[in-house]
Amino acid sequence: MSVLATCLGYPRFGIVRELKKALESYWSKGSSAEDLQATASELRRRHWSSMKSLGIDQIPSNDFSLYDHVLDMAIAVGAVPARYRAISDPLARYFAMARGLQDRAADVDVAALEMTKWFDTNYHYIVPELEPGQRFELDAAKIVGELEEARSIGVETRPMVIGPVTFLLLSKLAPGSPAGASTLDHLDQLLPVYEALLGALADRGVAWVQVDEPCLVLDLDARSREACRLAFARLAACAKRPRILLATYFGALGENLALAAGSGGDALHVDLVRAPEQLDAALAALPPSMSLSAGVVDGRNIWRTDLDAAHRLIRRAVAKLGPERVLVAPSCSLLHVPADLSAEKKLDAELLRWMAFAAQKLGELRELADSASTDSPSSALFDETRSALAARRASKRTRNPEVRARVSSANDEMRSRASAFPERARKQRARFDLPAFPTTTIGSFPQTGDVRGARAALRAGRMTPEQYERFLKEETRRCVEKQEAIGLDVLVHGEFERTDMVEYFGEQLAGFAFTENGWVQSYGSRCVKPPVLFGDVSRPSAMTVPWSTFAQSLTAKPVKGMLTGPVTILQWSFVRDDQPRSETCAQIALALRDEVADLEAAGIAMIQVDEPAIREGLPLRRDAWGAYLQWAVEAFRLATSGVRDETQIHTHMCYSEFGDILDAIAAMDADVLSIETSRSRMELLTDFARFRYPNEIGPGVYDIHSPRVPTLDEMVDLLERAARVLPGHQLWVNPDCGLKTRGWPEVESALVNMVEAARLARRRLTGVTA
Ligand code: GLN
Ligand code: ZN
Repeated sequence: MSVLATCLGYPRFGIVRELKKALESYWSKGSSAEDLQATASELRRRHWSSMKSLGIDQIPSNDFSLYDHVLDMAIAVGAVPARYRAISDPLARYFAMARGLQDRAADVDVAALEMTKWFDTNYHYIVPELEPGQRFELDAAKIVGELEEARSIGVETRPMVIGPVTFLLLSKLAPGSPAGASTLDHLDQLLPVYEALLGALADRGVAWVQVDEPCLVLDLDARSREACRLAFARLAACAKRPRILLATYFGALGENLALAAGSGGDALHVDLVRAPEQLDAALAALPPSMSLSAGVVDGRNIWRTDLDAAHRLIRRAVAKLGPERVLVAPSCSLLHVPADLSAEKKLDAELLRWMAFAAQKLGELRELADSASTDSPSSALFDETRSALAARRASKRTRNPEVRARVSSANDEMRSRASAFPERARKQRARFDLPAFPTTTIGSFPQTGDVRGARAALRAGRMTPEQYERFLKEETRRCVEKQEAIGLDVLVHGEFERTDMVEYFGEQLAGFAFTENGWVQSYGSRCVKPPVLFGDVSRPSAMTVPWSTFAQSLTAKPVKGMLTGPVTILQWSFVRDDQPRSETCAQIALALRDEVADLEAAGIAMIQVDEPAIREGLPLRRDAWGAYLQWAVEAFRLATSGVRDETQIHTHMCYSEFGDILDAIAAMDADVLSIETSRSRMELLTDFARFRYPNEIGPGVYDIHSPRVPTLDEMVDLLERAARVLPGHQLWVNPDCGLKTRGWPEVESALVNMVEAARLARRRLTGVTA
């Protein structure tokens, strides 16, 4: 038998996001459940057929999902919290768990389960909730249904499930669980369901099942490791079961390798893109009963695989294990890359040659499996790959000597403000003369139907660029007027000219390209289309100066310049893989540094550089945090430190917990930090207080994730909590995040309340009337 090609999971949405349209139309009652299921089924069949025709030997099923595969697993094991159980229609219940359900007629009003990021990806999963005394029960309908559906078109699949330990570690305990309880307490109750599932699959003649345990690439405590040991042993010991592929990805197994190799499974999948160095250790650790699934094709990025390098890894595995014990695989599910490069009609031919989406990656897998028996592979694809990679390496488009020289000459002086914060603060106070508890917003204002309509009209040629610009100016002017009327102290221009905070800058920087259909799922029906950062980054001309100066010309109050930070631009793009990310990040930082300088020279006195994604760039393993934080903070400082003491640098962060990276946040040395806190009722601020965060800080007092208008009392209460833990003179007053997803009426009411809350706080907490 020869080396097999296998796939761990395939993008779900279809090339032009067919699934998104089907979901949203079903949710808005524009189509029936049958319509939705028909589209889903059509997509699955299409994906299975294309995997089969491209020669994939082990094809996944149950990797598809109408919303999220972790939620599917919760359903499969019967982890449905009580509040959803009254909803009798399974599809309605499923979406109620995913998105909440308000149905007055049926008297149902349930909130959604929580959602959070899937490891270090931009994919968000639904967090299963386990109740005290949780009972599990197998519901194999989806798993078996997809298996049979694939068989009906002649495709034999390898069902994919999330393993029991990862499932529990990703779950949370329902409120009311006993103190000190752990989700792992539920393992004993959960395992029989997995055993029953394996039995059911064996009964149906399934040869292989893929059990995903990505938790094995994390730092696990003793309890979690013990849970793995127990769970794997139980599953392996099932009298009746398919062969088990234990899948790990997103990093090295490290000290968990022995646990994985000793799992009693029949194959182990390892990520050799993120961690090629683990190959030899894995080969040495595998018992004779286990095969190796070698993840050599990058499931997280869009570059063509270096087939020769991958081939060498495969050959090492074959030499040690023999061809019959080696499978060639993507590093992880292809869920995290777009579907098919052949749908890209506008990318230039040179770039196109460097790239591979899911469909192309399947071709690479087949080729690698076919060439596993020879030391010197030659084929059309190998030849084309070699010449494409050589062209990419030699291309002038990836290397700009000037940029490289600048990056290598960047030094600590360029990464430090002229004076320390207290001195800057003194000069800035004198310059701005702001009241205590100054009020501001995070940047964007509502992107109304009008704004989106105008953009669409421009794209369709129904509006000229001049008309569009006039329209945007009018929006900006209205926005500035409204902010003045509301009485905010520090204004913004409103970001009407931006669709997306990374795309907007990517489009103006050299080194970025954009796809037409390079979609990847972010959560539910939402997809993002990350820019492709392929070459050295530079800034051909000023990007934001005209909008900022226009807005500033309309008011005597300060208007903040508004930029997206280097780490966030990096984090939300598909990044080149031919140099360290730190290097790429420094290039972006230098381009932004020039923009900051231009804004300052144009008279913009406050400049905000948003870094909402700084925390999500953190490596999965603790021991790698320090290095990442070091270059991330350095990049921010490189972007922002070129200004005079009197120029006030703001930054903004959201979406995550920051308690464990406070020293890095302080090291960024922004004069003012605005941060999402209102949902956690300011708990985060205790961390800041304990840490003695030295600079100014605006804890969000207005939760912008809901249309609800917070009352004056609520905001005063939040401010008072803040003032209890941090000195009043450090505090700013602002919403949690940008307002672009909200509507004007609610935003105006909320901001009027917010400004009033600041006035009250001034009076109560400082005795000053303003
Ligand atoms: N300035 C951006 C906005 O207001 C910040 C967005 C973000 O933090 N995600 O929209
Ligand atoms: Zn934000």
